[in-house]
Amino acid sequence: MRPFRYERATDPDGAVALLSRSPQAAFLGGGTNLVDLMKLDVARPDLLIDIRGAVSGVIEELPDGGVHIGAGVSNSDLAAEPLIRERYPVVAQAVLNGASTQLRNVATVGGNLLQRTRCLYFQDITTACNKRQPGSGCSAIDGHNRDLAILGTSPDCIATQPSDLAVALAAVDATVQTVGPDGSRGIPLTELHRLPGSEPQHDNVLAHGELITAVDLPPLALAARSRYRKIRDRASYAFALVSVAAAIDVADGQVRDVRIALGGVAHKPWRARRAEDLLRGGPATEDRLRRAAEAELAEAQPQSDNAFKIPLARNAIVRTVLDLVETGR
Ligand code: SF4
Repeated sequence: MRPFRYERATDPDGAVALLSRSPQAAFLGGGTNLVDLMKLDVARPDLLIDIRGAVSGVIEELPDGGVHIGAGVSNSDLAAEPLIRERYPVVAQAVLNGASTQLRNVATVGGNLLQRTRCLYFQDITTACNKRQPGSGCSAIDGHNRDLAILGTSPDCIATQPSDLAVALAAVDATVQTVGPDGSRGIPLTELHRLPGSEPQHDNVLAHGELITAVDLPPLALAARSRYRKIRDRASYAFALVSVAAAIDVADGQVRDVRIALGGVAHKPWRARRAEDLLRGGPATEDRLRRAAEAELAEAQPQSDNAFKIPLARNAIVRTVLDLVETGR
């Protein structure tokens, strides 16, 4: 591992100021992804700003009935919090599906959202990768792409966003709060990550030095009937081939409202708005769910080895929402 300097920040503005000392500086939360990437020589920060003492580690109810989650909350504490388990079970389930207990104990909410793709070539510095080294090419397009994206890809990158938590937060319309060199702002979770386009080196819309301080969940009654389904190659901890975060409100047999987000299919959590629009106002039957899922996936562009993700995602949407309708969970 290359040498680096280490500083501790005690508040968000101090963390932002410390980071501005170097364009190669990086924030350090739990370090469960960043430190791995440093060992692989993929990440090469010359200065780490430890922000665990700079951002809140508290979860609290907001006056409007929503929930405020400090960016320093551990994944374990988030999954165990009664407010989350009862009002947003999809969020707790996503976190529990995301990593081992040891990792959850260390990983933070903010860091979870910013973990980097697990594309094999991104993690192997002997290969071409536009995300790691812009302009070098994409080894995955003609290589091992079974795990990679089918929606929103570009000729420059077909990577997937790896965070399960981000998919669940996209489904419940969470907002990410940040502080940066230009002040503070709130970013809808669905707009935090970006599609690769011609700049796959940028995973998200955060500026250099912009720090996630919290995630706010809105009051959302239908989120109490929500679930996360993750399909992966092995039952123990692995990244999603496809995942679905869903919540639904059904009254008198009609879908009053529904939220669906997909993981493992794109460079960002994929909010299935087309499917949601098709489902609202009618019965939640298997046939309607199938047609809504197929409409959502109509523009999928699979690679040589991942066309299986299209029927997998369709079936996962149908089964997950039907489970919610039939059993409430
Ligand atoms: Fe790199 Fe993206 Fe291609 Fe993977 S898919 S090799 S991350 S450019």
